[in-house]
Amino acid sequence: MSNQTIAYIGLGSNQDDRNGIIQSALEAMSRTDGVRLLRTSHIIETEALSPYPQPKYLNAVAEVETMLPPTEFLSRLQRIENQLGRVRTKKWGPRTIDLDLLLYGDSIIEQPTLSVPHKQLHLRSFVLSGLCELCPDSLHPLLKVSFSELYGRLNGCNFGIDDAMSMLISIAGPIGVGKTTLTSGLLKYLSAEGIFEDYDKNPYLADVYAGQKELALDSELYFLSSSVRQLSRETLRPDRVYLSDYVFDKALMYAQNWLELDALREYEKIFAEQRKKVVSPVLIVCIDDTTQHCLERIHQRNRRYEQGIQSGFLKHQQDWYNRLYADWKVCPVIRIPAAACLTDEQVQKLAAQIRYYLPEAEKIRCSC
Ligand code: ATP
Ligand code: CA
Ligand code: CA
Repeated sequence: MSNQTIAYIGLGSNQDDRNGIIQSALEAMSRTDGVRLLRTSHIIETEALSPYPQPKYLNAVAEVETMLPPTEFLSRLQRIENQLGRVRTKKWGPRTIDLDLLLYGDSIIEQPTLSVPHKQLHLRSFVLSGLCELCPDSLHPLLKVSFSELYGRLNGCNFGIDDAMSMLISIAGPIGVGKTTLTSGLLKYLSAEGIFEDYDKNPYLADVYAGQKELALDSELYFLSSSVRQLSRETLRPDRVYLSDYVFDKALMYAQNWLELDALREYEKIFAEQRKKVVSPVLIVCIDDTTQHCLERIHQRNRRYEQGIQSGFLKHQQDWYNRLYADWKVCPVIRIPAAACLTDEQVQKLAAQIRYYLPEAEKIRCSC
């Protein structure tokens, strides 16, 4: 039986001759007894993920085969860091070389000095892009999701830790896709507080759907002030996790649909001001489904004012969400198909994934 394990190492350098140092680290790894360097990814340049300014990094990922046990392997990597002049000053400070053990086969290791898979791997595009070159279809041992899918969730960004933020997770997707159902389902498995859009209290909504366009601005402003109240920094406590059944930005989509140009311009100014007051989500779960299925659900739930909704409106909503997430840099986005078809067990698994994006007492900050 082979005692060799395939492992992946993340390399990073932002001091001195960054490229030369990465090459030296690779050579030192391949000279290490019990380690065989198999392949390396391209080297990419990355903004530092740090609370204070520092030079850009060069990053790469290496694939090795090793017979060293994981802790032994880590201490060899640390020895190479020292030989190449790494001086440990402050956390996240600049460094000549950083060598992280990203993966060790499928092992899950939780020790005081070693966590594998690396705890931030799923939040860092500079790591996932390298893994996607080397093993795109392999699964993250804990999340059980492929590295290419994890990479797609980040939209090229790197996210880090910020203790000063409230943790808001938002469920998104077109009307009728099952956002509220999924939110309620997830709340059974997450210790989070639910925030539900109070659409049924809007006194203008039914009339707007019935064709009274002159009430559209009032209706949209009503929704806006209600969601600002629900999601503002003053309402959400920094030590709690919240799960909302809508994403704040979608207010703009409805405004664009309902408002005439002059009213829309006025609304957009108010929206931009109000947006500053709300907490940004640390994770979005976006539900995708066909317009036909959404329409069927709308008919089933039989809210009177929604019955005139046409497939064109739903298609427009789906396109709008696709465009929004094409350049969304605020937080990771998990896309899932048709929430209504998820079994209870799948909802539970999704909740576990969500929890993994929100380590206890750790919050997510964007670096791009
Ligand atoms: P980050 O872990 O966010 O990338 P870092 O690489 O800057 O941060 P270091 O100062 O290099 O952090 O390492 C801090 C400690 O992390 C090390 O002393 C090491 O024991 C521990 N550690 C835990 N898991 C790993 C891992 N998978 N790879 C490397 N170091 C790890
Ligand atoms: Ca690191
Ligand atoms: Ca490190």
